[in-house]
Amino acid sequence: MAMELFAGVDVGSTTTKVAIIDSSEKLLADAIDKSGFDFSGAAESVFNQALEVLGVERQQVKRVVSTGYGRRNVAFADEMRTEILCHSAGAYHYYPEALTIIDIGGQDNKIIRVNAAGERETFSMNRKCAAGTGAFIEEIAYRLGLELSDLNGMAEKSENEVSIGSFCTVFSCTEILGLLRRGAKPEDIVKGVFRSVVKRVVEMDTIVGKVVLTGGVIAYNPIIAEMMAEMTESQVVIAPHPQTMGAFGAALTARNL
Ligand code: ADP
Repeated sequence: MAMELFAGVDVGSTTTKVAIIDSSEKLLADAIDKSGFDFSGAAESVFNQALEVLGVERQQVKRVVSTGYGRRNVAFADEMRTEILCHSAGAYHYYPEALTIIDIGGQDNKIIRVNAAGERETFSMNRKCAAGTGAFIEEIAYRLGLELSDLNGMAEKSENEVSIGSFCTVFSCTEILGLLRRGAKPEDIVKGVFRSVVKRVVEMDTIVGKVVLTGGVIAYNPIIAEMMAEMTESQVVIAPHPQTMGAFGAALTARNL
């Protein structure tokens, strides 16, 4: 008998992710690409990429659940679920205990608390402003002429982190230009930028219990996990495949419908 497959499609405001699992809930393949302006085109193309990775045909996927900001644009999805539900389902699959899940995405942050049974207790979301999100980090990298992929390594070299007082992206850019003029080193500024992201996130809600981090920002900047552990005195772990955790949670939902 052919293997039964289930897929989750997470159309985020910045990236689109697809995860394919089997009926034992094992992640078999995932794929990621920019969402761009055409959410339905991105969903279609990232789904095809994941199928190709696995070497299977679309007909072999029994059910698809979509999630994310652009979840309504996935014509081939059987059902839709919120990102809150999918990130919780994905994280709880790996850590079946009471958790605080923090997702730092391209344009929003979410803090979700689940109890020991995996049921959602509370959630907070920041979708109003770029501060503390991936977009903030991208803007600063652009202004400093740095590659996004170099930031984590730079912050790790920092010996004299600078403090960035402004949370607002525009004010932070002005502040950073001033710091550079006064001779601050780029690596110390980058570490300060990460500190600002962590501060902005942790002030959104009370952080209790074990923290599981998901999303694209943490996937590329694991130093944020160390900084968050220091600042909250909590146990902080980075979820496996953090950027595709929402897509994985959607696939789990498809499996269990
Ligand atoms: P979404 O909100 O669309 O779900 P993600 O969780 O995928 O977004 O996070 C997107 C963020 O991840 C970007 O804003 C950026 O900060 C970071 N990121 C994504 N791709 C890369 C990359 N190749 N290198 C470094 N950082 C990246």
